[in-house]
Amino acid sequence: MRFPLALTAKIARHIIKHKLRKTPKFAMVLQLEPLHTCNLTCTGCGRIREYSTSLKDIVPLEKCLQAAMECDAPMVSICGGEPLIYPKIEELVAGLLEQKRIIYLCTNGMFMRKKMREYMAAHYSPEMETKLQTLLKAHLVTEKEAEVIRNSEAARSKVVIRPSQWIYWNVHVDGLEFTHDLIVEREGVFKECVEAIKMSKILGYQTATNTTVYKETDVKEIEDMFKFLSSLDVDAHTISPGYEYDAAKKDMVKRLGKQPEDFFLTRKMTRQKFAKIQEWSKAFTIVGTPMYQEFLAGKREMTCTPWAIPTFNVKGWKAPCYLMTDGHYAGYQEMLSKVQWEKYGVVDGVARDPRCEHCMVHCGYDPSGALGTNYQRGDNWKNIKYNFSRKPARYERGHEVNAFNGFSIGKGHLAEAKAAINNPRAAMKDGISASQHPAEPRDHTVGVETTPSGEFAAKGANSNRIAGK
Ligand code: SF4
Ligand code: SF4
Repeated sequence: MRFPLALTAKIARHIIKHKLRKTPKFAMVLQLEPLHTCNLTCTGCGRIREYSTSLKDIVPLEKCLQAAMECDAPMVSICGGEPLIYPKIEELVAGLLEQKRIIYLCTNGMFMRKKMREYMAAHYSPEMETKLQTLLKAHLVTEKEAEVIRNSEAARSKVVIRPSQWIYWNVHVDGLEFTHDLIVEREGVFKECVEAIKMSKILGYQTATNTTVYKETDVKEIEDMFKFLSSLDVDAHTISPGYEYDAAKKDMVKRLGKQPEDFFLTRKMTRQKFAKIQEWSKAFTIVGTPMYQEFLAGKREMTCTPWAIPTFNVKGWKAPCYLMTDGHYAGYQEMLSKVQWEKYGVVDGVARDPRCEHCMVHCGYDPSGALGTNYQRGDNWKNIKYNFSRKPARYERGHEVNAFNGFSIGKGHLAEAKAAINNPRAAMKDGISASQHPAEPRDHTVGVETTPSGEFAAKGANSNRIAGK
């Protein structure tokens, strides 16, 4: 099966229950943001900008668990900010597991290995020693860290995030090394994500990735990224076009001197970028209904169902959706009843709100596919077929992808890298170039066909390679 049977069955039961009860609006996935603090400042991130005045605030553990009970979504995506910074993250995961929720623990990957070492220390045993030896051999833990794992008596009683069929690590990966580190505005993040993913698979965790596509994202690079991640045994991938958050747009103009239209996608561009999504979903374990994929590929229209993926954070229930904020409410039911939902979304290609015009994001539209909004004959069958079809095989040649294609100094915008590659001098700013080693163009793959020339990422290689270190 494409996704684990227990998970698919749990979600299907939830939908059928509400359909039988004729519940007009209900939650499928809760986006739980226990805090907005983050250790990174990614270009295009709306959260750290929109909530810049409450970055130090956190949602108390009890309130997080109550929110999950209140909306009763079978799946909870713990996001933020960086949720691994949340002081009670282990207790939050344990509490949600007790409520029998499926958990997606979204992370930029920087603290994942630390959390996994804590799990190893808490459950140290001869069997764990075998895994520890594998990790040592792969240089995923150091000798010093291994000693701490073996000898940390105090850690044995700690609540930890352990592997479970109900939990996925959901690692943010927006491209191969060069692109990803530019977008997250820090060197070394891609490498750390890859190491964390490798470690998670050795320890038996389920691990997914989530990717946002921007205007300058090279589609060929995304394909290469999937090949590479598949070879690391990543279990699932979410992919979504970027949305122009107001706060992110303002930040882009002010801090980076960039125009938002140079970075974010219009609907037309999204459809071009996602033209091959159905092909990708045959080859890789893409999360998303076939209807949402058709929508992304420009083969049908859809209306969003933002109430199905509600967001709860330090200010309450955010409305109308994960992306846009017109208010916060104290309760989920209160939000459902007070928001004028008919003011939002795009119907038959016409935006009811101008801010919705170019939105095609996963969290707004994917539930529409599962809930039968804009139902067309045969959709149910497509859903069943997609979920019950065989999981795509591991892409064995993924190691041939030149994933470690260099790093930038993290100026955070792809155009600077492009300029650096095409004209290193032009990209010099304050005496520092946007790319340390722009060097000659080089494609991502070794022994894999190359992308048509002209797109940034195919040229994005530089000689400052980390691979093989
Ligand atoms: S890691 Fe996530 S929350 Fe943090 S800045 Fe990047 S996109 Fe925003
Ligand atoms: S189209 Fe829907 S999901 Fe997208 S911004 Fe508008 S209300 Fe939110």
